[in-house]
Amino acid sequence: MAKTMAVNAGSSSLKFQLLEMPAETVIAKGVIERIGLGDSIFTIKYGDGEKYEVVEDIDNHEQGIEKLLQALLDLEIVANFDEITGVGHRVVAGGEWFNHSVVVTEEVLEKIDRLAAYAPLHNPANAMGIRVFQKLLPNAISVAVFDTAFHQTMPNVNYLYSLPYQYYTRYGARKYGAHGTSHRYVANRAADLLGKPLVDLKLITLHLGAGASITAIKDGKSFDTSMGFTPLAGITMATRSGDVDPSLIYYIQEHENLSNDEMLAILNGKSGLLGVSTLSADMRDLLDVQETNEHAKLAIDIFVNRVVKYIGQYVAEMGGVDALVFTAGIGENSVPLRKMILDKLGYFGIKLNEENNNKRGNEIEISTADSTVKAFMIPTNEELMIARDVEAAKNENN
Ligand code: AMP
Repeated sequence: MAKTMAVNAGSSSLKFQLLEMPAETVIAKGVIERIGLGDSIFTIKYGDGEKYEVVEDIDNHEQGIEKLLQALLDLEIVANFDEITGVGHRVVAGGEWFNHSVVVTEEVLEKIDRLAAYAPLHNPANAMGIRVFQKLLPNAISVAVFDTAFHQTMPNVNYLYSLPYQYYTRYGARKYGAHGTSHRYVANRAADLLGKPLVDLKLITLHLGAGASITAIKDGKSFDTSMGFTPLAGITMATRSGDVDPSLIYYIQEHENLSNDEMLAILNGKSGLLGVSTLSADMRDLLDVQETNEHAKLAIDIFVNRVVKYIGQYVAEMGGVDALVFTAGIGENSVPLRKMILDKLGYFGIKLNEENNNKRGNEIEISTADSTVKAFMIPTNEELMIARDVEAAKNENN
């Protein structure tokens, strides 16, 4: 059966999943961490719970991908490279050029390069991943799956900032959002679980991971989302600030004598849960000590407050909501966080089903049967969405 590789290349890491398609069976998955940073860690999980792990220096993505492909052969996960007929790549910024996944051509790659201005940490790494796979697997179809594409349906009322209009026309200064592949996946799953067509539903999808974003989905389309021109905007995240009054940023820069790059690094890497708690960017650490550490408690409270605030906005904007969906690291795994959020939403008809909320693992409804607004926990699966988009592109090309 044909195999498809779903790739998520970051600046110093590369995550991958190899799926048998169209059966949608995961046959291997893994990650290369610390690329170019020394002592790189390369892990593959495959077969019947088998694990392959090596720690050695991997200097760049090309070397990493060569090692990955060689390991697939050595571990007999593939018999030859012709079995891998498609490679799908997560690309963070697609601007207004891409409202769906596309087969990568030279022109597409050039646009991804040009969009690096919108996602300087991500797009160059995504483009590098595409180029290396194209070189090493020249016969496989290569598809770019954009994080922003799903949000291209937002109306201008929601994507424009109240800035002079010419900045939009000159520079594309607008909201693009992110995590689109994840929001799209869980929204479709929620519609299945509710037994209704997605187009007939109003949903709020909560992707709460290290990066976090909330999306209002109306008529089956992204209607509004919390991330902005870049993934820095919106709710409090692990190390990203989320929304801040821009004039405060200049005030801090002046008093702390910080360059633009330094300030941006603080907003992206030293803020959010880490910044407020002064302790950790990991929600688990904060939950562990919240009883005794007031900074940890405050960081959690701010996180919950921002989530609830966005939900309220989106209910008002859509004129109601049928269901909320929790996903990603915190949304999927944190029983107390889901409780803290849902306990604040009783006024519009959600009641938490404590028993279901305590269950681990698969998709589950976490609201009570008599709730007028439903809530679900649905594990996200961006890799499956990527593989499906590759499959669709293959079928179109045939
Ligand atoms: P992601 O970006 O989706 O991989 O999510 C990663 C984040 O999920 C981590 O930084 C943790 O803060 C959070 N996380 C994972 N498991 C749990 C858990 N059991 N409780 C609270 N937070 C968790």
